Amino acid sequence: MKSASVVWFRRDLRLADHPALLAARDEADEVVALVVLDPRLLARPTARRDRWLASVAALRDACGGALVVREGDPATVVPAVAAEVGSEHVHVTGESTPYGRRRDDAVRDALRAESRDLVVTGSPYAVGPGRVTTQAGTPARVFSAYARAWREHGWPAPATSPRKVRWRRGLASDPLPRPSTDVGEVGERAALRRWHAFRDERLADYADQRDRPDLDTTSRLSIPLKYGEIHPRTLLADLADVSRGGAAEATRRFTDELAWREFYADVLHHHPRSAWSDLRDDLPLDYVGEGGDALEAWRAGRTGFPFVDAGMRQLRAEGWMHNRVRMVTASFLVKDLHVWWPHGARHFLDLLLDGDVASNNHGWQWVAGTGTDAAPYVRVFNPVLQGRRFDPDGEYVRRWVPELRDLPGASVHEPWRVPEAASDYPEPIVDHDTERREALARFAVARDRT
Ligand code: FAD
Repeated sequence: MKSASVVWFRRDLRLADHPALLAARDEADEVVALVVLDPRLLARPTARRDRWLASVAALRDACGGALVVREGDPATVVPAVAAEVGSEHVHVTGESTPYGRRRDDAVRDALRAESRDLVVTGSPYAVGPGRVTTQAGTPARVFSAYARAWREHGWPAPATSPRKVRWRRGLASDPLPRPSTDVGEVGERAALRRWHAFRDERLADYADQRDRPDLDTTSRLSIPLKYGEIHPRTLLADLADVSRGGAAEATRRFTDELAWREFYADVLHHHPRSAWSDLRDDLPLDYVGEGGDALEAWRAGRTGFPFVDAGMRQLRAEGWMHNRVRMVTASFLVKDLHVWWPHGARHFLDLLLDGDVASNNHGWQWVAGTGTDAAPYVRVFNPVLQGRRFDPDGEYVRRWVPELRDLPGASVHEPWRVPEAASDYPEPIVDHDTERREALARFAVARDRT
C-alpha cells in the first residue's frame, strides 16, 4: 500500500511556488489534495465566495481532477480524511486572519487527539505576518517603518515547482457548487499571464499613472493574490530582475504596494480585534451613525457626486474598484456622511472579488482616521477635486455614470454647474464644505477628550 500525505488548500490555490505542497510531496508516495467547503465561510453569498469556488474548480482541473472536496466543519472533516488515508500530517499554508487562526487551532487539536499533526509551511505573504519588527523589536505602527523593516528583512526566493506530484485518486468527493455569477478569468495560469502582461507592457508607466482610474494602469493582481493563485514571492523575484534592467522607480513603487498588503496582514496578526473595531482606541470618534438613506444612496452610487458614484457603480458591476476611488468613496461615507467605517467595509467585502479583511478593513480605518495613518485628522478628500485631478477628462465618470455621458471633459465632475446636465442624475445629497467642517469638529472633540 502506498503512503499518502494530505495538503489542505485554502487561499493558496496554485501548484507552483507552494512550499506546503512540496512538504507534503516529499514525505509520502502520494498526495491527497483536499478542499473543505466550510459552511461558516460559504454561507454568505458574496462575490469572493463565488470567486473562490471558481478558483477551486480551476485547481481541480490543474491537478487532473484529483481534488477531494468535502463539506463540513474543518475540525471534523480534516481529521477524517487524514484517518481515511492513514496520513500522520496534514500540510497547510499558514493563516493569519482571526477566523483562520481559530479554525486552524481547532483542527490542530482534533488531529492531535488522534496523534496526527497540522504542519504549517509558508504563508500567503512574502514575509509571514508577525516576523517583521522595527529596530526597537516592536511591531510597526505606521507603514513607512514597516516597509523599511520589511525590505531589510528580505524574503525567500520562489519555491521550486514540483516536478511531478502523484495524486491519490479515488476518494469520495462532494460536489463543488457552481458560482452563481460570472467572476472573470480564474486560476494559476491566468494569474501568471496577467502578471507577465502587466510586467512587460504597463509596469514602466506604473509610478506615473497608477493613480489614474480612467487609464486602467494598475495590475489588478489583487484578485489572484487573494486566492493565492500567484504568490507575492514570484512577483518580487521578477521585480528584482526588472529593476536590474533599469526600471528602478516603477519597481520600487510596485514593491511598496505589495508591502502595504503585507503591512495590513501584520497589523491584523498583532491586533485581531482591529478587523471590526477601531485600531486607535486613543481617539474615540463619534462615527457611530448607521447612515440610513444616505448609506443607501452611497451603496447605489446615487450621492450626486459623480466621482463617488462612478466608483460605487464600478464596484457593483465589476467586483473591483481602483485604489484612488476606494479612498475617495470610503472618505465620503465616513467624513461627509459621518457613517461608522464598518458599515462601508462590510459592503465592500460583500461585493469585492479581492475582498480581504486585512487590506479592506485597515484600508477603511486608514481613511477613517482610526487606523494606521500618521496624519489622520486633516485628511478629508474633496470628491470634486479628486475627480478633476485623477480623472482629468472625465472619462472614468462617463464610463460608469451614463446619465452624464453627454457632458464634456471635466465638467462631468460638477454637473450642477452645467445647465443642460441630465435631470435623472441626483443633486448632491450633502454640501461637502459643511460636512468637512463637521468632520474636523468631531475630530477636535475626540482629541480634546483624550
Ligand atoms: P496595484 O496598484 O497593481 O497594486 C499591486 C498589489 O499591491 C495589489 O494587487 C495589492 O495586492 C497590493 N496593494 C496595492 N495597494 C494596496 C493597499 N492600499 N493596501 C493593501 N494592498 C495594496 N486590497 C485588497 O486586496 N482587498 C481589499 O479588500 C481591499 N480593500 C480596500 C478598501 C479600501 C477602503 C482601500 C482604500 C483600499 C483597499 N484595498 C484592498 C487596497 C487597494 O485598493 C487594492 O489592493 C488595489 O486597488 C488592487 O488593485 P491592483 O491589483 O490593480 O493594484
